[in-house]
Amino acid sequence: MAAQIEEFIYQDVKNTDLKYKNRVRSHISNLKDSKNPDLRKNVLCGVITPEEIAVMTSEEMASNELKEIWKAMTKEAIREHQMAKTGGTQTDLFTCRKCRKKNCTYTQVQTRSSDEPMTTFVVCNECGNHWKDFGWCF
Ligand SMILES: [Zn+2]
Repeated sequence: MAAQIEEFIYQDVKNTDLKYKNRVRSHISNLKDSKNPDLRKNVLCGVITPEEIAVMTSEEMASNELKEIWKAMTKEAIREHQMAKTGGTQTDLFTCRKCRKKNCTYTQVQTRSSDEPMTTFVVCNECGNHWKDFGWCF
C-alpha cells in the first residue's frame, strides 16, 4: 500500500526533488498520526484509494478534530472583525499597514483578567484590513 501511494505521488510530482520528498514526508506523518486514526482507517479500508491520497494536501488529510479547530479559528477571526467594525470608534490614530491610510475603526476589549492590558481590534475603513493591537493604551 505504501509503495503504491509513493508511486502515485511520484507520478503526480514527476520527479524526486524537494517537493516529492516533502509530499512523501507529510503523507507518512499524517498516516502515522495517532490523533488522526480515521485517515489511516479510510486508506486501509479503501475508502480513500492510494491514487486519491497521493494528491491530497495536508489540510485535506487533517483529522476532523483539527478541521473543527480551524473552522472555529476562522469564526473567531470573523467575530472579532465584525465587533471592531460595528461597535468601534473611528480614529486617525492608526495607520493601516496595507494601504497606509489613517481611516480606521477601533474597539477595545478586556481579555482574560482585568489587570492585563486591553486588546485593541482595529479595522481599516478603506481596505478592510484588520489586526489586533496588544497593550495599546489611550
Ligand atoms: Zn487599509
